[in-house]
Amino acid sequence: MEVAAGIFRLELPMPFELRHVNVYLLRDGDHFSLIDTGLQTQESRETLNRKLDEMSLPVERINRILITHIHPDHFGLAGELRDRARAELVIHRLEVALMEPRYARAEDLVHDVAAWLSKNGVPAAEAEFIKSASMAAREFVSVVEPDTLLEGAERLSIDDSELAVVWTPGHSPGHCCFYWPARRVLFSGDHLLPKISPNIGLHPQSGADPLDDYLASLDRVRRLDVDLVLPAHGDPFRDHRERIDAIVHHHDERKAALVDLARDGARSGWQLAGELFHGIRDRNVFQQRLALQETLAHCQSLAVEGRLRKQVSRELVTWRAA
Ligand SMILES: [Zn+2]
Repeated sequence: MEVAAGIFRLELPMPFELRHVNVYLLRDGDHFSLIDTGLQTQESRETLNRKLDEMSLPVERINRILITHIHPDHFGLAGELRDRARAELVIHRLEVALMEPRYARAEDLVHDVAAWLSKNGVPAAEAEFIKSASMAAREFVSVVEPDTLLEGAERLSIDDSELAVVWTPGHSPGHCCFYWPARRVLFSGDHLLPKISPNIGLHPQSGADPLDDYLASLDRVRRLDVDLVLPAHGDPFRDHRERIDAIVHHHDERKAALVDLARDGARSGWQLAGELFHGIRDRNVFQQRLALQETLAHCQSLAVEGRLRKQVSRELVTWRAA
């Protein structure tokens, strides 16, 4: 579907709670750039092929693949598509560093995650399940070496114009948005979504203070002049500043709730997550881990601000209101 002149949104299926991921094709003279790729599943691959067929667009005309971040729904098919199209694969260098441990040496990462869960108060019986919660994601993605590494603020030529790379750490350390100033269009990846606030989590592979990184990234995006936001999940939307205000407000509320929960003494991240996310212990292990990570990201930001006291020993990390 053409969402703006020469910009096509392709909705690809996912077997998750979030049903679809959007990838975007941008006409660039005789060629196309592709932003994100969808999962490495047969269903996603076939849908992408069919949509390219419907556009009478042979895959070889895609000469560049831009990746917002390496989560499987964005990066899964990158290696395969790059090989088929002989396209240039472009990604932030901080994402590349995450790829090997996450998808190729996941056993080592699971070991780190187990230690981290225990430090954050997760009982051994639960930790046993939660530590491997994202192992299944590995089959949806392969490790590939990119052609071009980004750091942020690069200008990429496109269609007699330029696409600006906006580094937006938070949801992932090397997350990038792509901004087309001449068109006032922002490809926001998972950084800015119309309906949900993206998961911001503190965990062994995240930045050290991901929520504050994320809020600073929102500020960076707020300053851009944007008429149309094209997100990785959900429909295009217009008022990016209104959406940013709502998300900032949501995080402020979460932080205030955590300070309240930590008033009666020191709590582990796991205890706080159980109280902040009602009913979370009945959800699947993946949801439980996201809840813990999200809780810890807010706690860390509060500790940096001086509103929570973070106490660490060899065995346990705890938080209490300052
Ligand atoms: Zn993501």
